[in-house]
Amino acid sequence: MILTLKQGATDQQIKQIEDTAKEFGFIPEVSRGREKTIILIKGENAILTRDKFEAFEAVDFITRISEPFKLVSKKWKEKTVVDIDGEKIGDKKIALMAGPCSVENMVTTMKTAEEVRKTGNTPFFRGGAFKPRTSPYSFQGMGEEGLKILKEISLKTGMKIVTEAMDVRQVELVEQYGDILQVGARNMQNFELLKECGKAKIPVLLKRGFSNTVTEFLMSAEYVASEGNTDIILCERGIRTFSDFVRFTLDVSAVPVLKANTHLPVIVDPSHPAGKREFVEALSLASVAAGADGLLIEVHINPEKATSDGAQTVSPAQYAGIVDKVSRVAEALGRQV
Ligand code: PEP
Ligand code: MN
Repeated sequence: MILTLKQGATDQQIKQIEDTAKEFGFIPEVSRGREKTIILIKGENAILTRDKFEAFEAVDFITRISEPFKLVSKKWKEKTVVDIDGEKIGDKKIALMAGPCSVENMVTTMKTAEEVRKTGNTPFFRGGAFKPRTSPYSFQGMGEEGLKILKEISLKTGMKIVTEAMDVRQVELVEQYGDILQVGARNMQNFELLKECGKAKIPVLLKRGFSNTVTEFLMSAEYVASEGNTDIILCERGIRTFSDFVRFTLDVSAVPVLKANTHLPVIVDPSHPAGKREFVEALSLASVAAGADGLLIEVHINPEKATSDGAQTVSPAQYAGIVDKVSRVAEALGRQV
């Protein structure tokens, strides 16, 4: 069960609750979030002692949650809107995130950002400075130099930066330069990285591992939330199946399934499952029709020359065409881009 505390609960009050939980043989986990402090009481039949905890002055309300994921469960909270200086994810507006797979130099990355910014008022620029590549001989990303380019783009265009940390040691750096910390598919179950992201002061964009179930995905989000950071955006990006004409199979059903089970916003990356730019539009439309709160699309000023993932990357003009169609689907559903 989860005890949601009243605002202003003191350390002493929290300690009393923790001590009581321990006396019962339960494991209390305190999570001090930006908005409220909660205590997760772990242990079999903890709910049977509910009245003991209700008696504490500092306890606002108690939620019983039977699923293995608790803090990210819809049973605890109806909806989370991640708000970065007024740019929201999980609200009525479809959050558009676009940019190249990799940050490769100032000129092309800045030009891409300027083009993308004009389209549908895209508020988020996405580019990787640390790249998880299948081969150690492929371009590994520009590292901190790339982060500096992203920061400059943010200052010039006003766009918020989404960028990946692949390792615990990179989290602080990404926090310093970026606005949203991406955890890539291959790291979805890097639990130490997830815990570190849970301590970060910026929201986390968690991508689904391509061989992971929805439950495992939510448990990974729970790792982040359990450290105090509940500003998490879930991103479906395709899973491995026997389908051989696309790079991955976009699990469109994951969108409504996730939205039924968690309060967190759910976005879709249509580029990685598509594998080829010609399919990105259809997957974008399907995702928004299924209820996605946002899209993360790979765009490059000159896709054929992109350092990574060029085949699935669209040009700014193609991106504008996709956004135009997406806006019509969104409007049909009472949403907007
Ligand atoms: C990416 O976003 O460029 C990327 C590497 O994605 P994923 O982790 O989903 O493969
Ligand atoms: Mn990519």
